[in-house]
Amino acid sequence: MKSAIVLGGGMVGVATALHLQRRGWSVTLVDRREPGRETSYGNAGMIQAEAVRPYPMPRDLATLLKIATGRTNDVRYSLSSLHLHIEPLARYWWHSAPKRHRDAIAAWARLIAYATGEHDVLIREAHADNLIRRAGYRAVYRDAAALEHSIKDAEEDQREFGVKFRVLSGSELARAEPILRDDLPGAIHWLDTWTVSDPGALVTAYAELFERSGGTIVIGDAQSLRQTATGWSVATDKSRIDAASAVVALGPWSPDLLHQFGYRIPLVRKRGYHMHYSGGASLDLPMVDKSNGYAMGPMAKGIRITTGAELTSPDALATPVQLASAEASARELIDLGKRAEPDPWFGTRPCTPDMLPVLGPSPRHPGLWMNFGHGHQGFTLGPATGRLLAEMMNGETPAIDPAPYRTERF
Ligand SMILES: Cc1cc2nc3c(=O)[nH]c(=O)nc-3n(C[C@H](O)[C@H](O)[C@H](O)COP(=O)(O)OP(=O)(O)OC[C@H]3O[C@@H](n4cnc5c(N)ncnc54)[C@H](O)[C@@H]3O)c2cc1C
Repeated sequence: MKSAIVLGGGMVGVATALHLQRRGWSVTLVDRREPGRETSYGNAGMIQAEAVRPYPMPRDLATLLKIATGRTNDVRYSLSSLHLHIEPLARYWWHSAPKRHRDAIAAWARLIAYATGEHDVLIREAHADNLIRRAGYRAVYRDAAALEHSIKDAEEDQREFGVKFRVLSGSELARAEPILRDDLPGAIHWLDTWTVSDPGALVTAYAELFERSGGTIVIGDAQSLRQTATGWSVATDKSRIDAASAVVALGPWSPDLLHQFGYRIPLVRKRGYHMHYSGGASLDLPMVDKSNGYAMGPMAKGIRITTGAELTSPDALATPVQLASAEASARELIDLGKRAEPDPWFGTRPCTPDMLPVLGPSPRHPGLWMNFGHGHQGFTLGPATGRLLAEMMNGETPAIDPAPYRTERF
């Protein structure tokens, strides 16, 4: 029987483990904590069928000036850690040029096309339907010109990729979400996106499905990974385990492990924060406040606000400036209630400079595979890229051409 150690129990690792398992592999999933407790726990919980365009780095002077002078809540940076980001940002800038971004969109949209379908299979098998709403989300605008502009982009996405949406006027929006302030110009309701009331619980449900189907989950440190005469070995809290293959699915921590094998993979580390609020009004569907760069959605613990990108050092203490600003903006829209936790959660979106995941066999180590770097949409894409990697490892013809995601491109 073919065997693999999957390192990392986030959405990507758990989905990869499941797809290998259903191909008859013996799989051990290793994480230093329970599955689904890191980035895949703290996100906005959207399975984003509409996200056909990975976020490019802004290249126009007006937006860059806004970021540089702290006048946007979408992106913030800490001056003292800027040196850490210079190289990945320079590459991100290069890949964000219109022609290169178009290539990235083509490769990205091919993965997104599989996202909800692959989740659907796992949701049903994991009996996790109670966590899912298949009703989309609303992108809300406070500025009529920005709404008009976004409608044009949405129409293009519809023409090119078949993404479905509905435009809501201000009064239609007020009827759809009666708790909202009613003088907004309108919204785009993205219809195909699914939303999850507890993202960590969905990963747990998938991990339980993996265990019920004969998989093993152990606590261990991925940094103990060693190459052996027959494959790969890792130390767990009980013993060392061995397998012919190993998969690195450590999300934002993946480059740290790969460094010891001589791979230097750049990431643009975009930190995001969340906080839950309770005791206020309840939202029907999640919404993104496009004018103020945050999302908020009804979740198991209350309304969860998630913030945009902060470029800081991985070890920096929390500086939840964007959360404070998002909270103030959200309070203009709805009765948000009180903070439900003493401190905000934060985690890092693992974004590659060319906006595509790193997926496939490692360039120089037989049996070592990679699946990480899903950026803003790893929760969405875990099952789709898990399937793609498992197909490659199993020697099948992959459903999608994997060339754009190849690991040797950095
Ligand atoms: C604020 C915010 C909002 C977001 N919203 C969305 C959204 O709505 N939709 C969407 O699709 N995506 C969203 N994302 C992105 C998404 O959350 C990530 O892309 C995705 O969770 C990455 O999954 P992963 O499995 O690669 O990484 P992770 O979920 O981080 O999993 C990596 C795992 O590796 C483990 N690990 C790390 N180091 C070691 C080690 N040395 N030994 C053992 N184990 C280790 C960790 O414990 C962790 O469990 C958001 C991200 C943020 C920050």
